[in-house]
Amino acid sequence: MENWLTKRVLLSPKQTAVVFEGQERTFQELEQDVQKWAKHLAGLEHLPKRVAVLTENNLTGYEIILALQQLGCTLVLLNSRLASDELQFQLDDAEIQLCLVSDELGAQYQLKVEQQLTFTDLRQIKAARAQIISDFAEDQVTTIMYTSGTTGRPKGVQQTFKNHFYSAVGSALNLGLGTDDNWLCAVPIFHISGFSIMMRGLIYGMTVTLFDQFNAGKVAQALVQQPVTTMSVVPYMLKQLLALQPMVPYNSHFRCLLLGGGPIDRETLEVCQQRQIPVIQSYGMTETASQVVALSFKDAPRKIGSAGKPLFPVSVRIQGASQPGQVGEIYLQSPTLTPGYLKRPAKNKQLLAASWFKTGDLGYLDAEGFLFVKGREGDMISSGGENIFPNEVEAAYVNFPELSQIVVVGVADEKWGARPVAFVAGTRLTATALREYGRAHLAHYKVPVAFYQVEDFPRTASGKIQRRRLLNARYQQNKL
Ligand code: ATP
Ligand code: MG
Repeated sequence: MENWLTKRVLLSPKQTAVVFEGQERTFQELEQDVQKWAKHLAGLEHLPKRVAVLTENNLTGYEIILALQQLGCTLVLLNSRLASDELQFQLDDAEIQLCLVSDELGAQYQLKVEQQLTFTDLRQIKAARAQIISDFAEDQVTTIMYTSGTTGRPKGVQQTFKNHFYSAVGSALNLGLGTDDNWLCAVPIFHISGFSIMMRGLIYGMTVTLFDQFNAGKVAQALVQQPVTTMSVVPYMLKQLLALQPMVPYNSHFRCLLLGGGPIDRETLEVCQQRQIPVIQSYGMTETASQVVALSFKDAPRKIGSAGKPLFPVSVRIQGASQPGQVGEIYLQSPTLTPGYLKRPAKNKQLLAASWFKTGDLGYLDAEGFLFVKGREGDMISSGGENIFPNEVEAAYVNFPELSQIVVVGVADEKWGARPVAFVAGTRLTATALREYGRAHLAHYKVPVAFYQVEDFPRTASGKIQRRRLLNARYQQNKL
């Protein structure tokens, strides 16, 4: 396929490509800026094939990422919220020689890497002739992104041009494309959630309204005052947007919030329905270069809690399920699926040998083909022959007074195999009240057998709770 940026400039040079803090770039201007960066990069004594970038969301970072892509380098996109040793693991794992860092982050981190250049350093490199690739070859790995590390060490996921292309196409076939499309990106561009918006921008000829970070007030203002049509949100962003009072109607071009990244509770979705805020739920992972399953707003009221139907290029099946409604592991086929992980030969062998990708998530398909995600396989609690899904137990407690968070984990039990225990945060919580409430709302065996009060929960850099780490004794000191 022809280079997406070159092609985009040919098709719609004057269209606005990106807006950031009042600065705007048309595709033509963006290409010029990107080429400038490419020339500085070409001026380096040695530009490795694989280059890491550590940046917040900003215009320079956006351009440098595109410049490396234009030069045919594989980008390793690093998460700016990681601790130094977590970053170091990824730099070592990906055998990085050159790491480009925004000036702010450069001042913050001391990374052990052969060459670390801030964006200002790079600007000072004498420009040279840049060899822009004319072709975005399908199977070329253009990005490597690490998974969130919710279940263990993050895994480096390789993503090809084909992966990103089909991801953009699958999304467009679901959401539709408009000539005025404008996608607000307040999710990080180093994650697939944000990076996929950048690629959609090029492929669709769409404007990306970039935010440095998520600030509910500022974002809501943009949704009202700017011609934004779509925005990607994760559950906590949606909740913060809903908590803003008073809610003002979004601008007349606004089409939807695309929700992904993790499970969402029924109450939040019902509020969206009541307020007529079109939310499209979705399911996906780093390995599938963003969403592979999505729920339309039209179907949402009667399918609350579902992640939706597989996008056009995607197939989903439930391993071992012989009829609708039966829970099993979610398997999928998709042109967006990674060709493999970095340095995980055993996993890759499995991935390549099987015609279906094993997601590690559990769920079921209903009779109409809607997917319901129940949680991760490793989180399921098998207790006396019954299966307990932590999400379901946690959801039952959503209206418990003064409970701000509950996380359920299975602990080994001699008699039952495993039993659920709960970690809670909130005020004036007692085990008796929590237990009684559970008994009124859940089957007996699903009610946690112990409640531990905790101050903070172990989380990944992107805020996902690392359930399994709660089994560490440090979280079990304050039994209610
Ligand atoms: P790691 O693989 O390192 O443990 P991770 O799986 O959290 O981390 P990501 O690729 O960021 O890394 O997240 C993908 C996972 O997020 C999915 O496998 C699934 O468990 C969860 N997820 C995504 N969307 C949904 C959804 N709509 N409902 C429930 N879970 C979801
Ligand atoms: Mg994962």
